[in-house]
Amino acid sequence: MTSATMAAPAFKNWRGKKIAVVGAGICGSLTAWVAQQAGCEVHVFEPDRDKKSCSFTAAGMLAPMAELESSDDNIYKLGLQSVSLWPQIIKALDCPVFHRHNGTLVVSHRQDVGVFNQFVNVLKNKLGEQFSSSCELLDRQNLEPELKNLGTALYLKDEAQLDSHQTLAALHHSLQKGSHWHWQRSENISPYRVNELEFDWVFDCRGLAAATDIPGLHGVRGEVIMVHAPQVNIARMVRVMHPRYKIYIVPREDNRYMIGATEIQSDDAGPISVRSTLELLSAAFSVHSGFAEARILKLDTNARPATMDHQPIIDHQAGLTRINGLYRHGYLLAPAVVEKALGALGIDVASILKQGVYADCI
Ligand SMILES: Cc1cc2nc3c(=O)[nH]c(=O)nc-3n(C[C@H](O)[C@H](O)[C@H](O)COP(=O)(O)OP(=O)(O)OC[C@H]3O[C@@H](n4cnc5c(N)ncnc54)[C@H](O)[C@@H]3O)c2cc1C
Repeated sequence: MTSATMAAPAFKNWRGKKIAVVGAGICGSLTAWVAQQAGCEVHVFEPDRDKKSCSFTAAGMLAPMAELESSDDNIYKLGLQSVSLWPQIIKALDCPVFHRHNGTLVVSHRQDVGVFNQFVNVLKNKLGEQFSSSCELLDRQNLEPELKNLGTALYLKDEAQLDSHQTLAALHHSLQKGSHWHWQRSENISPYRVNELEFDWVFDCRGLAAATDIPGLHGVRGEVIMVHAPQVNIARMVRVMHPRYKIYIVPREDNRYMIGATEIQSDDAGPISVRSTLELLSAAFSVHSGFAEARILKLDTNARPATMDHQPIIDHQAGLTRINGLYRHGYLLAPAVVEKALGALGIDVASILKQGVYADCI
């Protein structure tokens, strides 16, 4: 993690400290919520009433193993830590959040078994001994009966998912109830100061909008399609290995599925292309013919905030902490990264989650 950690906690006691959080995507919302639980007077600045931020586009996969194909041990460990923190966070929220911890099935068509085997080998190399405890190669999988025809599968047991909209809604609900919510874009963000207001500490969680202050921060475009498919009954996340496009299918409640894949090095968040739409939907149809009659509920695109090395950034200065660069892992990383960032300042997230709201934990 690219991180400049403070030598000592900022305050011995954060209770009653006036803090500002700029940006209420998943990173800012979670930071603000933890600070609220720690007894701070929290002010959130967020201009986006239309739910257009990257965090609303996310498929909500908590997939440290599947992501390991293109990431590293740091992301993997932070991801596992977040997977274990999410149930505690969700339990503490007032509103229900769909969260399921039943793993991912990695599959391929028979003609693409080479790509599948390559994926298995990468995971074996990166996970070492842990491969056999967290992954299972299934010759004829019965976990998802409607995908039986796909042959060999790799089951990644420890992966989970949540509904990103419900998660943000629940966090925002708590914050709007217990904190000061400003529907405002912050133009001036500096140590101890936002929009000419003074604070004891400022957290900058603006995602890609912070690119002017974080060298190398850039956008990586992603596209996702939400469908309603009453003829498809899949309970687990599915990754389909394919030589050109690897897609994921994420089941949500009521036979809704999120289908996504493409990643383009561009910060363009314009509408989804015809090519991507065709590829994603054809690939989903090739996995399960029931997608033919599915209804398209939403086509969405966004640009993920990424650093040059695709590692998250925690940058502390006196009076200002910037947390950013969550890239394609916003939900996978946010709890662990926020825990690390606030931990360095003297706020113990684990105790807060263990002891409950306004616990004496700082
Ligand atoms: C198609 C797609 C699928 C994805 N799927 C997954 C997934 O399955 N799992 C996963 O873990 N991650 C996923 N991601 C990645 C995830 O969405 C991002 O990593 C995450 O949303 C980044 O969160 P953030 O809070 O840092 O930034 P953002 O979500 O961009 O939030 C930044 C917030 O700051 C606000 N803001 C900006 N400027 C200002 C200002 N001047 N003043 C006040 N507020 C401001 C914005 O309005 C915004 O609300 C996906 C991303 C995409 C595009």
